[in-house]
Amino acid sequence: MITVIRSSASNEERAQLMTLLCRVSGSQRPIATIRINEQEVIALDGSILDAQVRTTISQLRAVERIIPIKTPYKLVSRTFNAQDSTIVVGDALGGHPVVIGGSSPTIIAGPCAVENREQLLTAARAVKTAGAQILRGGAFKPRTSPYQFQGLGVEGLHLLEEARQETGLPVITEVMEPDLVETVAKYADILQIGSRNMQNFPLLRAAGQHSHGRPVMLKRGLAATIEEWLLAAEYIVAAGNPNVILCERGIRSFDTQTRNLLDLSCVPLLRELTHLPIIVDPSHATGRRELVPTMSRASIAAGADGLILEVHPDPNSALCDGRQSITPEQLQRVVHETTLIAQALGGKAGLSYVA
Ligand code: PEP
Ligand code: MN
Repeated sequence: MITVIRSSASNEERAQLMTLLCRVSGSQRPIATIRINEQEVIALDGSILDAQVRTTISQLRAVERIIPIKTPYKLVSRTFNAQDSTIVVGDALGGHPVVIGGSSPTIIAGPCAVENREQLLTAARAVKTAGAQILRGGAFKPRTSPYQFQGLGVEGLHLLEEARQETGLPVITEVMEPDLVETVAKYADILQIGSRNMQNFPLLRAAGQHSHGRPVMLKRGLAATIEEWLLAAEYIVAAGNPNVILCERGIRSFDTQTRNLLDLSCVPLLRELTHLPIIVDPSHATGRRELVPTMSRASIAAGADGLILEVHPDPNSALCDGRQSITPEQLQRVVHETTLIAQALGGKAGLSYVA
């Protein structure tokens, strides 16, 4: 259930509401209010309250209305917000602002990892020339083996900043630790939370509380259900950051021919369940460069709000994920083809998600 607070409520009326909600929800901690779409709201699990208590809450002077929400996730649900959320990226740190979740798809591209200055700046220029709008590059890399390249760390963040200054492209990079959220937010226009950390709850909370309003792109866990994924997104929003973008990057399956199994059916399904923007990552989903252009086209045809693609100036010498990295020339074609598909479909408005 979501309680919407009346904007003209006095401090006394609010305190009365908080006290009652704390008592009936059995919460030891103060109930958190969050500001979303110009309104102040409180989300909690209403199923534990009986009808009488709900009526009492709805009659308090501080309460504008109560929205019953049956799903375990509340703030990210379509029931709470019937409109698709749009997220403006890149206006805080001096890049060219980009809208994610608007009428045309957003293409994010760049190397898996920031390797050195020349590699990143060459990639950034190529990404811009190809017509993509946001630069990706991992400074902190979650690697399966401790003996693999772990990323340049803070030095990588400085290089991303330099790439943004030169090209104007906003940048996205991964954060792996709660204590590093503030640092990464100083340099990145979007924080990425990777698959391996989708259920790292302290990290999700930190991204909600300490990201200075930077949007967070939450990748689907290696074997996460849609509900687990939406609940992970709910953690970030409930902690105070409504700007969450979901990223489908393939899930574990039995076949080793592809790195993962790209679950494109999640795109129209998520449209029904949530108002959050949806990005698809065909690079990690397939693990094979030659499959990336086709699955990029398919993702946009399925109604995704955009793509995140691994691109490297010399994929065969990449320190990380070279096998799935496309070349700048391939990126140029993907941008062109996906633009045509989105136009042919009339953007998101042309896609119907209702059976
Ligand atoms: C990445 O984007 O480079 C990455 C590590 O992705 P994922 O978390 O989806 O594996
Ligand atoms: Mn990668």
